[in-house]
Order: sequence, then C-alpha cells, then structure tokens
Amino acid sequence: MRAADIAQDLERVLVTEEQIQERLAELAAEVDRDYADREVLLVGVLKGAVMVMADFTRALTIDAAMDWMAVSSYGASTKSSGVVQIRKDLDTPLEGKHVLVVEDIIDSGLTLNWLLEHFATRGAASIEVLAAFRKPDAAKVEIDAKYVGFDIPSDFVIGYGLDYAERYRGLRDVAVLAPHVYS
Ligand code: 5GP
Ligand code: MG
Repeated sequence: MRAADIAQDLERVLVTEEQIQERLAELAAEVDRDYADREVLLVGVLKGAVMVMADFTRALTIDAAMDWMAVSSYGASTKSSGVVQIRKDLDTPLEGKHVLVVEDIIDSGLTLNWLLEHFATRGAASIEVLAAFRKPDAAKVEIDAKYVGFDIPSDFVIGYGLDYAERYRGLRDVAVLAPHVYS
C-alpha cells in the first residue's frame, strides 16, 4: 500500500510518535523504581504489543526478561468477542515471578481480564499491567492497570502495532481508522 493511500484511510492522528516515546520514558522511570530490587518478567501479548515492548524495554534502565504469548479474541472484526484462545503459550513458568504484562490497548478489558485470571492460577508472585492505550468508555470489566500510556476515546484505532486485518501496524503514530475502510 502506498503512503498516499494509507493517509486516506486515517480519519485523524490521535497520539503522535513523539508523545508515545515521551510517555513511555515516564512509565519506564516508574517501572525502574518499582522493580529496583526484584526481577521483573515482561510478558507481551502478540502481535499488537510488539512496538510498545520494543520501545518500552529500551526505555528501561533495569534489565528485564521478556516472554510472549499469543491470544486471539478478535479475528478480523473491530469489536471484541470476549472469547480468548491461547495461540502461543509462554516459554517461562510464572511460578514465583514478578510479572508485568505489556499490552497495546485495553478496550473492553475482556482479554486482559481473562489473561490475568489465567496467570493467577500459575503462581506468579505479583502481576501488574502496562498498557500503551486504554479506552475508559469501552470498559466491560475493570482492569487494574498500574501503568497506562494514554486514555483515548472508544474509536477503533490503528498504528504503533495495532492493525486492521493485519494492516497499518507499522504506522508510527496512532490514528483513528476512517469508517470507509471497514464499512
Ligand atoms: P479487549 O479485550 O480489551 O476489548 O481488547 C483486546 C485486544 O483487542 C487488544 O489487545 C487489541 O489487540 C485489540 N483492540 C482493542 N481495541 C482496538 C483498537 O481500537 N484497534 C485495534 N487495532 N485493536 C484493538
Ligand atoms: Mg492485543
């Protein structure tokens, strides 16, 4: 897809690359402090969290182990189904670990709610959540996310790892997808 065509698919830019990096640096400073005397295991949720994980780990001063999980709750739709399937499990046992789940976005909260309950049964010593974006008005379950980048409106957004049917993940900003793309 050419740049001009991509631009046509965006309704408006919500959060710029610069704003994202600045906020991640603030969150990394908090996490540096909070985990100064314990080992943290970062758990990323594929594929949307790839960009935030890459930038966040490099903003951290502390060293942090990283693992990945792939779940699906969406398919090619723009609405959450709440049905979560594990597509790829973690390589690391969570027993005794201080887990920080790194997520792209909390929408309904259903995916994370399921994941957090599931992780709790694996004996982690602690579990916290970092989400780059959150849609407070879309919440169906409350997620106690300790580190949140930006609260945004409930529109469907793309970019910075977030896709629509596997497109737009490489956009550096986060933008609202124009309705003509999916309607
Ligand atoms: P939730 O279960 O909180 O409704 O959403 C779970 C997942 O759906 C997120 O981790 C993300 O991958 C995807 N998602 C939610 N909202 C959006 C959005 O606005 N845009 C995109 N591209 N994905 C979203
Ligand atoms: Mg996700």
